[in-house]
Amino acid sequence: MLQHSAILGGGMGGMLAAFALAPHAEAVTVVEQDAFAGEPVPRRGAPQARHTHALVSGGARAMEALVPGVLAELAAAGAQHINLPGRYLGLASRGWFPRYAGRQFILGCSRELLESTLRGRLRELPNVTVLGRTEVVGLQGSPAGITGVRTGSAPLTAELVVDATGRRSRAPRWLTELGFPPVRESIVDPGIFYATRVFRAPVDAGPEFPAVTLQSSPRREPGVRRNGTLLPIEDGLWMITLSGGPGSRPGTDAEGFRAFAALLPHPVLAELIEAATPVGTPFGFRADANRRRHFERLRPCPNGFVALGDAYATFNPVYGHGMSAAALSALALRTEFERRRKPGTLRLQRAVAGAAANAWDMATGQDARYPGTAGPGPGRFDGIIDRLGDWISASSGRSRLVTDIRADIFALTAPPSRMRSPRVLWQAVRGGDNGPALPDPPFTAAERRVLGVRPR
Ligand SMILES: Cc1cc2nc3c(=O)[nH]c(=O)nc-3n(C[C@H](O)[C@H](O)[C@H](O)COP(=O)(O)OP(=O)(O)OC[C@H]3O[C@@H](n4cnc5c(N)ncnc54)[C@H](O)[C@@H]3O)c2cc1C
Repeated sequence: MLQHSAILGGGMGGMLAAFALAPHAEAVTVVEQDAFAGEPVPRRGAPQARHTHALVSGGARAMEALVPGVLAELAAAGAQHINLPGRYLGLASRGWFPRYAGRQFILGCSRELLESTLRGRLRELPNVTVLGRTEVVGLQGSPAGITGVRTGSAPLTAELVVDATGRRSRAPRWLTELGFPPVRESIVDPGIFYATRVFRAPVDAGPEFPAVTLQSSPRREPGVRRNGTLLPIEDGLWMITLSGGPGSRPGTDAEGFRAFAALLPHPVLAELIEAATPVGTPFGFRADANRRRHFERLRPCPNGFVALGDAYATFNPVYGHGMSAAALSALALRTEFERRRKPGTLRLQRAVAGAAANAWDMATGQDARYPGTAGPGPGRFDGIIDRLGDWISASSGRSRLVTDIRADIFALTAPPSRMRSPRVLWQAVRGGDNGPALPDPPFTAAERRVLGVRPR
């Protein structure tokens, strides 16, 4: 049992780390620079919260394991359970995915609802203290080990310091100030720009209207990167996010937003935008690069210090994996503490690295295929692997087996390499088990009526 653990940052990763460590520490202190409000309100430390935040089922289940009952609580507050692919219409490189009840899902709700629900549950833990409006300004210790943190007010001594300060983490600098060498980084930057607007769904859409996603495919449109996603969230709202690579930025005014949607590989999102009623203006965001800070390779090992969430690895948000990777990492920390009374720092950081690996491999593997991406180019065999993947997609048509495996990979319950497993290859050789891919999104007749309906 730890005596005291300090968690830096009270965002998604920090809160989930607190749930993971609370059973294994006498006291846990979460230090957050923003006010730790109960209500779902926007805040300075999480500007990305204005954008679509889908929680894939691998991450959602990890969150439920850490915070039992949280998914039911979110559902009661209006979060949408979006079955994959039953309530999720996605355009693949050769047509739309088939629609049926699968084993994975996405949770659709605002980031504010997620955070405020977790905050409420965190307050119930008797050995967790949250210091709101308190900025961490450095670490305490030496190359022999980290012993605590410096804050804008009093310093805190801690046996284990967890950095969850997000993608702008200053921990690499703080460590070098204590005499550690620089932390090595891997960076793959697809130069993505985001624009999100919230809409009120048309009344005819009903409570089960599906999520819709159009991801550009380097195979279908080489060199062009345009994506669009509609996610139903609480209170009858839709969050629509458009994103583009270098040279194809979505507009952040109403007209530019609409015009970009019309350029997507299928008109369905543009039609749904016309059918819905805007709530507020679009917001833009220059998404960060995929960035992995290899704390697990740092020597000497910073004993008593672990990073997780975006502080460890930030992903291109187009894939919707950052929160889930943070949840899986927090769960991996808890598992290490369940296995050993006091697991070593290197073991903990490696557990985080392992939990983030699938999301990292998927994001960087896909992004490397676009010519505008900055970073290490594709490896020697990547071209062959990509062509194999394209052939599998093209040949497996509406195969449920292949669609299920894709959903597992997207939900972070299987590694991307699963798409090249013998079962998938055999399915592709056979040419799919369910006819050719669909040319149009498989809406029901009632859902299709929503398209083209003008705002009332
Ligand atoms: C545009 C966009 C869209 C995204 N969409 C998705 C999505 O659909 N699905 C998904 O899973 N993920 C998505 N993400 C990623 C997701 O936002 C992050 O992966 C997730 O928030 C990581 O959690 P975290 O706790 O590591 O960081 P954050 O949630 O960013 O939290 C960091 C916290 O640390 C605090 N902090 C920072 N510095 C200090 C300091 N010095 N002292 C004290 N406190 C500090 C901040 O105030 C903040 O509360 C998206 C990201 C972006 C940018």
